Amino acid sequence: MEKDWIRSLLWYSLLPLLFVMAVSAFIGSNRTEALTYSEFKTLLKAGKLDKVTVREWEISGTIKDEDLGNLLPKEKIADIKRVGGSNRAFSTVRIADPALVQDLDAAKVNYAGELENHLLSNLASWILPTLIFVVVWFYAMRRLGGASSSGKGFGIGSGMLEIGKSRAKVYMETLPGVTFDDVAGIDEAKEELIEIVQFLKDPDRYRRLGGKIPKGVLIVGAPGTGKTLLAKAVAGEANVPFFSISGSEFVEMFVGVGAARVRDLFMQAEEKAPCIVFIDEIDALGKARSAFSQGGQEEREQTLNQLLVQMDGFDTNKGIIIMAATNRPEILDPALLRPGRFDRHIAIDRPDLNERQKILAVHARHVVLAPGLELKEIAAKTAGFAGADLANLINEAALLAARKDKNCVELADFDAALDRIVGGPEKKNRVMNAMEKETTSYHEAGHALIAEFRAHTDRISKISIIPRGIATLGYTQQTPTEDRYLLKRSELLDRLDVLLGGRAAEEIVFGDVSTGAQNDLQRATDMARQMITQYGMSESLGLPTYERGRSALFLPDPAPRAPRDYSEATAQAIDEESKKLLAEAYARVRQTLTEHRNLLNALATHLLEKEIVDRADLDALLAKHKTGSEARPLAVATKS
Ligand code: ADP
Ligand code: ZN
Repeated sequence: MEKDWIRSLLWYSLLPLLFVMAVSAFIGSNRTEALTYSEFKTLLKAGKLDKVTVREWEISGTIKDEDLGNLLPKEKIADIKRVGGSNRAFSTVRIADPALVQDLDAAKVNYAGELENHLLSNLASWILPTLIFVVVWFYAMRRLGGASSSGKGFGIGSGMLEIGKSRAKVYMETLPGVTFDDVAGIDEAKEELIEIVQFLKDPDRYRRLGGKIPKGVLIVGAPGTGKTLLAKAVAGEANVPFFSISGSEFVEMFVGVGAARVRDLFMQAEEKAPCIVFIDEIDALGKARSAFSQGGQEEREQTLNQLLVQMDGFDTNKGIIIMAATNRPEILDPALLRPGRFDRHIAIDRPDLNERQKILAVHARHVVLAPGLELKEIAAKTAGFAGADLANLINEAALLAARKDKNCVELADFDAALDRIVGGPEKKNRVMNAMEKETTSYHEAGHALIAEFRAHTDRISKISIIPRGIATLGYTQQTPTEDRYLLKRSELLDRLDVLLGGRAAEEIVFGDVSTGAQNDLQRATDMARQMITQYGMSESLGLPTYERGRSALFLPDPAPRAPRDYSEATAQAIDEESKKLLAEAYARVRQTLTEHRNLLNALATHLLEKEIVDRADLDALLAKHKTGSEARPLAVATKS
């Protein structure tokens, strides 16, 4: 639509231009024969010229006599004759010629100087730039002002007034809109949103009882996991308008524009309520405000503040639900997450085996699959793929099959497509191979078992070997039962053990270790050092604190270390002490895992199969393998 608009604008500006060109062509059309200057001089000297007009750049006039003899080349004379009649006009480009006036006098020609008629050329010379400027201006305004006016026709007024209008595209999800059926897997997320759908469908029912509906829902998940899809599905299910805008679109070059846009967005939304406002990539806008405010930040902060103000200001009962998506929740400004703002969080993980199969099924609906093709088999090969990757895979496979003129899409096509996607130039989709999967299973099982067998650790809620983010292949999720502000030495030691559990399991099982434990080791090392240098928890080094800690919250991340204020000897002692602490922990962990080797194997195998083990699975496994010594979690012997 934007394109159309620009095209018509171009036409409108071209028209006057064409007109000017036509007029000038007409005026210049009393045809004159162009002579070279020497031809002109020859005719002049031969007395063949009648009237001559001298202008700044041009000399023109009429030729007196048609009998030009041999003065000019034949074709020229023919041309002049052809122009014919009384019209024997000529013109020539004027050359700096000091003898011109003398020659004119000598030829007794009636000559006159004339000021050029600049009107036309002036007109052309400023109309054109003005038009270009206007076009550029309109285009710029258009970009700023957004597409919300498309369809309203165009006018100077509307273009200029719309600098601050949001570019949120309003579209009512029509009948074939996205519904929850199009969203496969992620059942928990859907479950959480059903309440919101019902509220949007029938706000009065909830208002009557005075219930409070959340204002903002933050959907967190890796790219392509279906965050946008889910938000759209909520709108589709409730059959309400869906406004979507990307956080980065708010942040424009002019200070104040973003804020105005936020205001306008909410105004539009209020008109259309009940509705959903979806802000994609909210991190672009809601990055935590830093202490060092640079020029560009200003605008972003203003916009963010405006968003907060709007969110605080409106009343959910109007029926506006704001949904936002991000894949980097950790950088969000905490102010955004406060109650009354985005206080409901929905996390979408990458899909597990089962969910991948379901997503494949959704996208395979319109694809002719080979009979007997098991989507499960494909799901098994795509650990780590997000929904978008799976959709892409199906599409690629279908295209490959079509290229080979097949009647249906076969497993081989999926394999070829997979190779293409995974081995493709950007390698952004990671799929774990069998070896990685197995290693990761044992690694995570190691973490989990240690967490299970230490007294002072958080409860495990979920273990997964589905890759997340760039570096982590798996994770063990522990849910703290309460907020903690103080940690005892015994607790820190237990945590240290849990961190080392992954590495130890790999070593015990494979007799070899992988790079997968890098982050664990780093965290364990940091923790050990902190215990020694900051918390006075080492016997040999005693109570003094040796480092201030990286407490400088306002400094950007890689905090410059404060200069060391202890001796070389102390530094060495710290190094040795932390080495010792880690070595002791590692020995403890190895022992525990060796003792429970059967359980470790069982858990890892289970993980390998299911990719996700939740609390219930874990309890079942534990119960099955409960033998005398494993019945009670054993407290760590915490001698230094
Ligand atoms: P995000 O917003 O998280 O980056 P999208 O919602 O834009 O991801 O998802 C991109 C596409 O991937 C969707 O349009 C859909 O085709 C597919 N997709 C992602 N997740 C799912 C899912 N759970 N079920 C079905 N399709 C999905
Ligand atoms: Zn680990």
